[in-house]
Amino acid sequence: MMRSGPWRRAAAGAGLLTADGVPGTTIFAEMSALAAATGAINLGQGFPDTDGPIEVLRVAQEAIGAGLNQYPPGRGSAVLREAIGRHQQRWYGLEVDPDTEVLVTAGATEALAAVLLAFVDDGDEVLTLEPAYDAYGAIIALAGGVHRTVPVDWPDLRPDADRLRDAITDRTRVILLNTPHNPTGAVLDETLMRVVVEAAERHDALIVTDEVYEHLLFDGARHVPVATLPGAWDRTISISSGGKTFSTTGWKIGWLTGPAELVSAALAVKQFLTFVNGAPFQPAIAAGLDLPDPVFARIAAELQAGRDILIAGLEAAGLPVSTPAAGYFAIADGAALGFPDGADLCRQLPSLAGVVAVPVSAFCRGDQAARMRSLIRFAFCKSPSVLHEASERLAALRPR
Ligand code: GLN
Repeated sequence: MMRSGPWRRAAAGAGLLTADGVPGTTIFAEMSALAAATGAINLGQGFPDTDGPIEVLRVAQEAIGAGLNQYPPGRGSAVLREAIGRHQQRWYGLEVDPDTEVLVTAGATEALAAVLLAFVDDGDEVLTLEPAYDAYGAIIALAGGVHRTVPVDWPDLRPDADRLRDAITDRTRVILLNTPHNPTGAVLDETLMRVVVEAAERHDALIVTDEVYEHLLFDGARHVPVATLPGAWDRTISISSGGKTFSTTGWKIGWLTGPAELVSAALAVKQFLTFVNGAPFQPAIAAGLDLPDPVFARIAAELQAGRDILIAGLEAAGLPVSTPAAGYFAIADGAALGFPDGADLCRQLPSLAGVVAVPVSAFCRGDQAARMRSLIRFAFCKSPSVLHEASERLAALRPR
């Protein structure tokens, strides 16, 4: 019974089909289980260890008390869709119609699934950067698509413009961008995005952009949504989520925005995936999106402070590390300490240092996995005391 079926494509698409044909679990689940089993500090899976803004949490509590516990409308509750509209206008100057150009989803993950299943036919190519978030490969494969990639190398973290341009052809149905980027923490620069928009126009491809880390920007970095670039709006679906910005990853409230026709096609699929989700959390994320600018600045500043603690700890341990411009994660190179295989190092890290990380190769395949073999990713979306403790523990890696 287990032998065949599209599950094989999903597992293989994420590089998780084991030799005996059993579906593996994601690297995040595997490493979180390892942390739980060993008591190591979990800097693997990206989730915060403290709550986000109380104003957001309170609205959800009140909504449950007020009886907002049944199915919300199919496109999402009006209060959230309107708040998403105001958010796009306030931060990016984008005018989106909350009734036709916004769709609320079960996290960014469902938005990705709905869009790719809506637009990718058997054999269509989907282009992403590599490394890429693990769900991309799995969903592309479920949709029957062919996953093409353009490498992002470490530590410069910038895809080559010519390679990006050349990878977009008449076979490309979707260019799936992710900025700020997981796992590198890089913000895609505008010149590269323009290359993508021009090539997408030339080859009539759609652009899908995953912007879940849009507000977690450091050192004055700026997030420019692809949808704001000339020529982009008509062929672009932008995806985001409340999980990262408001430290509510377990709520799974995400959304997509774009031209009405594309949003309707995504809805046609989404309504048969989850139909709807998270009624009491939707007004809470709406309240979050309406919070004043300084709250967003504080969220980013706190995360930047966490980044700096972790980076100092990794450097003190003798690990070369890149400084991310955004997001939850920093990448370090285990080769310098005599660990050429990051996956191996991650399995040993709980006993060596009482810390859990994830190998960057889990976000890659083939050649790129080989090139990134010694790299490991650490999450810094944790309290300062936890990051200080992790840093002290990581010092055990330093050769004596
Ligand atoms: N996005 C989170 C990460 O990269 C994990 C989400 C998950 O476990 N699927 O760590």
